Amino acid sequence: MKKILVAEDDELNRMVIKEMLALIVPNVNIEIVDNGLEAYLKLKENSYDLILTDIDMPKLDGRELLKKVKGELHLNIPIICVTAFAVTGDKERLLLEGFDDYLSKPIDMNKLGEVIRKFLGENID
Ligand SMILES: [Mg+2]
Repeated sequence: MKKILVAEDDELNRMVIKEMLALIVPNVNIEIVDNGLEAYLKLKENSYDLILTDIDMPKLDGRELLKKVKGELHLNIPIICVTAFAVTGDKERLLLEGFDDYLSKPIDMNKLGEVIRKFLGENID
């Protein structure tokens, strides 16, 4: 079973993303944590196929998490950032920083599905 790790500090956003993922990929194991540090600790102990992370979070933000995952843990897991930034150019900047893809909030369920299939493949249902 494929596994997705989600890091998001906002409780409502956590609920929304959980509901969406349950509908889009009911057969994928979803783990949700509320900050980047928790995500980092999980990643040290477990393997995942995809990470969805917020940018602004306490303890360790999405950018710091990205640096640790790629630079310190040397994990080759796709990391998708989910952020409220909506200005043109932000997407390119985030991709340059090393994120594998970008989703803007409020999350569009079709786009979320597209991104997940792009990285996990079509055979996840
Ligand atoms: Mg946040």
